[in-house]
Amino acid sequence: MSMSESARQGNSGRERLVVIGGDAAGMSAASQARRLKGPDELEIVAFERGHFTSYSACGIPYWVGGDVTERDALIARTPEEHRARGIDLRLRTEVTEIDVARQRVHARDVDSGAESWTSYDKLVLATGARPIRPDMPGADAEGVHGVQTLDDGQELLDTLTRTRGRHAVVVGAGYIGVEMAEALINRGYLVTVVNRGSEPMSTLDPDMGRLVHEAMEGLGITMVNDAEVTKLLTDDDGRVRAVVTQDAEYPADVVVLGIGVRPETGLAEAAGLPLGAHGGLLTDLAMRVRGHANIWAGGDCVEVLDLVSGQERHIALGTHANKHGQVIGTNVGGGYATFPGVVGTAVSKVCDLEIARTGLREKDARRAGLQYETVTIESTSRAGYYPGASPMTVKMLAERRTGRLLGVQIVGREGAGKRVDIAAVALTAGMTVEQMTALDLGYAPPFSPVWDPVLVAARKAAAKVRNL
Ligand SMILES: Cc1cc2nc3c(=O)[nH]c(=O)nc-3n(C[C@H](O)[C@H](O)[C@H](O)COP(=O)(O)OP(=O)(O)OC[C@H]3O[C@@H](n4cnc5c(N)ncnc54)[C@H](O)[C@@H]3O)c2cc1C
Repeated sequence: MSMSESARQGNSGRERLVVIGGDAAGMSAASQARRLKGPDELEIVAFERGHFTSYSACGIPYWVGGDVTERDALIARTPEEHRARGIDLRLRTEVTEIDVARQRVHARDVDSGAESWTSYDKLVLATGARPIRPDMPGADAEGVHGVQTLDDGQELLDTLTRTRGRHAVVVGAGYIGVEMAEALINRGYLVTVVNRGSEPMSTLDPDMGRLVHEAMEGLGITMVNDAEVTKLLTDDDGRVRAVVTQDAEYPADVVVLGIGVRPETGLAEAAGLPLGAHGGLLTDLAMRVRGHANIWAGGDCVEVLDLVSGQERHIALGTHANKHGQVIGTNVGGGYATFPGVVGTAVSKVCDLEIARTGLREKDARRAGLQYETVTIESTSRAGYYPGASPMTVKMLAERRTGRLLGVQIVGREGAGKRVDIAAVALTAGMTVEQMTALDLGYAPPFSPVWDPVLVAARKAAAKVRNL
């Protein structure tokens, strides 16, 4: 093993930016900083322990399911492309320590074991999130897969090609779980989803999750709720063969784990950087780590401000990571940008069922001490008489007395999911449901009924709040 130290402010006296993590947040930050400052002013060193940079984990379910045929289609920018833009990208190199006092990071080459220290003037942490792995017998058996990285996706595809089994079990019914259920159906598997909660998609209220449950059953997916996985059974050759819960056993030729993630902040914690209640790094609005003038953090490793509840949350989404990276890169590059917070918008699908949410669920509103009213309406995606109109359910929460919009959840077929963006804009603007009723949304029979389903919900919510 060799140990070397590269000094800060090398020959030319230029500043050095070190980035830890080579995906959405890290490489967006590096790329934006490079746009603003050329190599003669700013040296950029980026460490990534994996094989890839700037890849879309979001696309993994569609690659595994066969909608996307090439792995490389999920790579937005390769290491070579980053290097060509003057970023010193150190692939397969893991940062193992941050020495805040001496402004340097310690890194280890994953393949050769070579170690080195690299000094920095500015540091960006973009280490992402770590998938939760169940601590139980059989969890590491062959045929048990996570889907966090492109390598995970490839290993799962290899298993699906090699085993050609019949039964697949997905553990976890969040958006990754339901998207993977679809992928496995597309691969011809009989799919069971085992879920600890009372209904799938715990990012929705249970009454809306129930609709997802019913639709999944209609798609031929066996949905098991209130189930705690206790162990995974294996064959004599160590391959998984069944998933066992407290009261049943489900045959499994392949198991996919989608039980959530935690911020990857071990390095940050060891370095004494401030973490919040959810384990994510705490930053200011410029994405600067609180109390550290030359350290920024973004993406799945940070907590974000929920603009509706006013509370910090950990939400692992690529859409936020890219925006964080853009803000960080702008600030590091000498400009000025802020990330004010999120309203909690997310959209996903299982086969032709679209699932969307923004803002607060009922339990979030209660936790934040808010009093609220709810309405749930049934409408259609197009004018009722227009071919292809499909049912859509919209649930809306509004604050009691003020009528401020608090949250919207939508479950339906084509055209349901992205309708939530209307509500996301209204939430961001702090609109009341009364104000929403007057929104000038587009209408023609192929796109919506004359009263869009979101406006129908807003009207009903406004009437309810008004009459109290
Ligand atoms: C299956 C799946 C589907 C998804 N679908 C969606 C979606 O539809 N919409 C959406 O908005 N989001 C989606 N996401 C979430 C999205 O992919 C993440 O929020 C996003 O990738 C976060 O970007 P990031 O840069 O913060 O972290 P990551 O993408 O996790 O990147 C962090 C990088 O840091 C590297 N790293 C960590 N520690 C070190 C270290 N010490 N040294 C060197 N390198 C290190 C890791 O190897 C990793 O490459 C999905 C995620 C998955 C897994």
